[in-house]
Amino acid sequence: MKACVLHAKGDLRYEDIAEPSIADSNEVKVKILAGGICGSDQHYYLEGGIGTAIVVREPIVLGHEGCGIVEDVGGNVTDIKKGDMVILRPARPCFECEYCKRGQYSFCLNMRHLGSAATFPHVQGLFAEKVVVHKEQCRVVKNMKPEVAAFAEPLGIAYNGVHCLGDIIGRNVLVMGAGPIGCLCVAAAKTLGADRVTVVDIRQNVLDVALKMGADEVCNSKENPEQIEKWCQNKGHFDCAIEATGNGFAAVQAMKMVRPEGDFSQVGMYGIDHQPKDLGAFMTKGLKWHSVFRFYKEFGPCVSALERGLIDPLPLLSASFDACDVVEAMKAAISPDTMKVQIKF
Ligand SMILES: [Zn+2]
Ligand SMILES: [Zn+2]
Repeated sequence: MKACVLHAKGDLRYEDIAEPSIADSNEVKVKILAGGICGSDQHYYLEGGIGTAIVVREPIVLGHEGCGIVEDVGGNVTDIKKGDMVILRPARPCFECEYCKRGQYSFCLNMRHLGSAATFPHVQGLFAEKVVVHKEQCRVVKNMKPEVAAFAEPLGIAYNGVHCLGDIIGRNVLVMGAGPIGCLCVAAAKTLGADRVTVVDIRQNVLDVALKMGADEVCNSKENPEQIEKWCQNKGHFDCAIEATGNGFAAVQAMKMVRPEGDFSQVGMYGIDHQPKDLGAFMTKGLKWHSVFRFYKEFGPCVSALERGLIDPLPLLSASFDACDVVEAMKAAISPDTMKVQIKF
């Protein structure tokens, strides 16, 4: 079968690999329909890893955002059957370690995450014709377009980002960054009860998409720095913030715009040299800074939000490529002119 395999930095191939088979009675074999290219896939392609901690050491099938049709199930699988459409949750915790026992599945000591080089051997991803996953990684959906279903994983991150803020009913929320994750945070915050959601970015094209995703107000901080200044006055303007840029400068700006004792959800991942340098606002305003790492229990509600049409992610979809054109797809995903790029099998 064919798959999109990264051999090393910049060396991505559409090639034949061995077809996986069900090895455990709790497993499900899925024929992939569509998958989204994530920022982490782009880091693997451009840098051969993520930061210094995660390095590609052997060929790896990329991809962890996707959906497909069930082709076969193991003997212990009763609620999923052949022909079902499923959305895949990339995280496969062990269900046995001390964190799994505490229900903190995202912090499993033996986590296997689709398309991740964090462990060795690497866990192969879902940019392949077929994959085998644990039944707990599958959520059956009906009548959903594959290109919508492939947004469930990034939406899960956004749900976790909002969830970390605590009760947001009626609150005035700031979202820093209008990339795909920032825009999904906007939709999630509106769906989960925020009163107003304001988005700040330096790119007008993505701010326009943020409006389509439900933002009440957007601000281009490059063109309108006076507005940012205004929101910083009197110790801030917003009740809470979601930082979705992974840029330290933007994070510091956001902390200045949040009122004292507000919640601050850190969704963006800081690259090396991109950490916030001035934590003055953080230290003097009693802010609660939550880090958002993956998601688990948010998966069900976010799948259901997509299924019921509460959230329409399609304004974020810039392009879709056949899997054989994965290199072209990757280059499109990296371009600053696109939001989400998907590949289809
Ligand atoms: Zn991702
Ligand atoms: Zn575990």
